[in-house]
Amino acid sequence: MSFLSSSDALRYREYYSSCFDHFYAEESVAEHPALLRAREVAPDIPFKIIRSREEVPTEHRSARTLLAVTGRGNAVGRCPGTRGHICCNYLTVDLYTGCNLGCSYCIMQSYLNFSPITVRIDTQDSVARLAQIARLNTGRVVRAGTGETGDSLWLDPLFNISADILDGIRAHPNLILELKTKTDFVDHLLGRVDPAQVVFGFSLNPGQFAEVEEPAAVPPALRLAAAERAVQAGYRVAFHFDPLVRSEATAGAYEHLCSEVGRFPASHVAWISMGTIRYPKELRDALPDRPYMLDEFVPARDGKYRYLQRERVAIYRAMLTQLRAGTSAPVYLCMESAVVWRRVFGSEARQLPELSSLFDPVELPRVGEAQ
Ligand code: SF4
Repeated sequence: MSFLSSSDALRYREYYSSCFDHFYAEESVAEHPALLRAREVAPDIPFKIIRSREEVPTEHRSARTLLAVTGRGNAVGRCPGTRGHICCNYLTVDLYTGCNLGCSYCIMQSYLNFSPITVRIDTQDSVARLAQIARLNTGRVVRAGTGETGDSLWLDPLFNISADILDGIRAHPNLILELKTKTDFVDHLLGRVDPAQVVFGFSLNPGQFAEVEEPAAVPPALRLAAAERAVQAGYRVAFHFDPLVRSEATAGAYEHLCSEVGRFPASHVAWISMGTIRYPKELRDALPDRPYMLDEFVPARDGKYRYLQRERVAIYRAMLTQLRAGTSAPVYLCMESAVVWRRVFGSEARQLPELSSLFDPVELPRVGEAQ
């Protein structure tokens, strides 16, 4: 378990035992190094090899069960984006399905209720695909992330998969992997992976809000402390104010978070994103009445519910002013319309010099093209 310090080994052994009641692995990965690492880090979780995921007993099909599968053939794709809204051209590497950090606003609350937390531990195909994309896009930065349907770092001290990917893409310096998280689980990577190819991304929300609405996540103050450790070790970080929520629990609190972000040297802040809360109808139906859901929301062109456009613009402008008081790092909007972009920044992302390199679409190989 050389990738964990002895104090971290103890912390994670206890932590993961508290997260899971059962741990299954498909026999195709029985000898995979990432599985052996996980077994060593968390030996107390009852473990069983199964022939296929269908063998997980019905009564164990929940977020209290961990399931390791092969992941061969896994695609790297574009972030699905959303109709009528500007997408930041992020590539997604599909490693995790599910997360039990329990954010009340998480889209996964509306599905996956009867699924184990699934981890695709064999990253070989994803790495090969990323390398192919890097070669096709020589001369420009390609951003990829693993946090589309899960938290990038929540299970990383268990399987240490991010290091596998980062080792695999080392020959392609134009590839950057962003590890987006609501944890402070960074220490196993600091000093062990190349600072030029990784960005630690932290989602931020006011502490009082996070305490209630992100109950099993690490408190934002500790996420900021982890960001500080990463920067001190020479890494770049990113901050995501997403979802930005207007409620009694957040009133006046974003200003403090913006000033905290302003304490980081801009040279080490790769980017900052902002996105007001949005949700599809299914999530609304799945949620109990959270105080922030009692606000006024309207359906947008992609069918998701958002604050009125003029209110979103006011929120973004206020945030931007507060952020700009402390940092010159690039700031962008997540899943917003061209009109909102123009009203907040005066133009769209690709016209802004500091953002054009991020928002120019990455070329993807055609399906079936040799790797
Ligand atoms: S950390 Fe992310 S994936 Fe996990 S519950 Fe919260 S929003 Fe969902």
